[in-house]
Amino acid sequence: MFQPLASTAISSPSLKVDHTSFIHTLQTHGLSLRRGQTEVLQLNLGKLCNLTCIHCHVNAGPKRKEIITRATIDHILEWLATTDIHTVDLTGGAPEMIPDFAYLTRSLRELPQVETIIDRCNLTILNEPGYEWLANHLAAYNITIVASMPCYSSENVNEQRGDGVFDSSIRALQHLNQLGYGINPELPLDLVYNPNGAFLPPDQAELEADYKRELKKHFDIDFNHLFAITNMPIARYKSWLKNNGQLEEYMTLLRDAFNPAATKGVMCRNTLSVGWQGEVYDCDFNQQLNLQWKNSKPLFLWDIDPAALEGRDITLGDHCFGCTAGSGSSCQGAVA
Ligand code: SF4
Ligand code: SF4
Repeated sequence: MFQPLASTAISSPSLKVDHTSFIHTLQTHGLSLRRGQTEVLQLNLGKLCNLTCIHCHVNAGPKRKEIITRATIDHILEWLATTDIHTVDLTGGAPEMIPDFAYLTRSLRELPQVETIIDRCNLTILNEPGYEWLANHLAAYNITIVASMPCYSSENVNEQRGDGVFDSSIRALQHLNQLGYGINPELPLDLVYNPNGAFLPPDQAELEADYKRELKKHFDIDFNHLFAITNMPIARYKSWLKNNGQLEEYMTLLRDAFNPAATKGVMCRNTLSVGWQGEVYDCDFNQQLNLQWKNSKPLFLWDIDPAALEGRDITLGDHCFGCTAGSGSSCQGAVA
């Protein structure tokens, strides 16, 4: 079973103090980060996706083979049933592309303590051949949809996510509205904005108002909330920054915008992140950086005692500046 570990950081193990590091920045503000009560289990079901977006922190794509198996799903469900975790957040890749997506979501609905199931949907998957069942299935099981929509104009969306993605996303949103998503309170539909370049998201409330106005006016689309998320300087987005000579500039931007108030809302405080093989991490970003929990050996969800989660140290690194810059950033958008 899990034992708490000493505080962990992934900054270089140098004797010299790095005054620009995330850990040092926390210390100078008299702050530390520890896990609180675990309310959300975020399952990354794998790296398979029908898109290859440039900001993707997962390096997902149509050729990736890593996806969760039925045996791992059953193992996770067994563990989850012993907890009082009320929200399960499904991500990927395109989580709906795993063969057992319907089985997983049906099984989650049978767990009495699970109130909210979230599907992080790229929208275009709803229009792919073979996925005609998906929208009705999501509605039938009252699954909350959190959908990527980096802009309300086609140029920006297609540039970031690929040709034709904007039109496909609009069609999917209209279909979801027809099913009651974004209108019926039982069927929440939230959108996710992320910047189309090396800058921080604008004010979330103002942007939400712009999205609501423009999507209603041009496409008669309704949705509930907009989450403005900062692009994390890891994986494909980090390579993109490097290739454009903007990595250092972006890291400086994130560091200079450090907001102590945002540390209260970072998602590693209340979310446990699990990979497609059942590995455990503090968050989906740490997952992409292979910062799996260890205790003399790598830890999987079934090694963890749910009662021992609260108060555990969090593995931090300079990518964490992405969660604490400006208004902060989490899977539910701004936090401060
Ligand atoms: S950002 Fe989302 S939709 Fe785009 S490639 Fe990555 S997982 Fe797929
Ligand atoms: S990247 Fe964000 S969520 Fe992950 S450990 Fe760092 S601060 Fe927490």
